[in-house]
Amino acid sequence: MNLVCHFACPYCRGPLGWDGGCGRCFGSLTSTDRRTWTFPGDRYEFDDERGQPRGDGKHWVLFAKGPRPVYRQTKAESAALRKTLMTVGVEEDAP
Ligand SMILES: [Zn+2]
Repeated sequence: MNLVCHFACPYCRGPLGWDGGCGRCFGSLTSTDRRTWTFPGDRYEFDDERGQPRGDGKHWVLFAKGPRPVYRQTKAESAALRKTLMTVGVEEDAP
């Protein structure tokens, strides 16, 4: 028998957000280590990327099943972002 609750975090039993994230343990048994964070629940969305309702405009729609890993930048992506921010003057050169 599968006793999974779709509204509670499987790790700490705290409430899940619409994005499937848990604000208490971050979907990890070692929540102090950011590298282990996950979205333990399903992701529901109301609008699409253009701001148009995904469903009938009255209900949240399942968008992705959980658990999902938290996105982490690679070193190359971090370097490219830093270079872009320095180019536009948002960020100073690294110390
Ligand atoms: Zn949790």
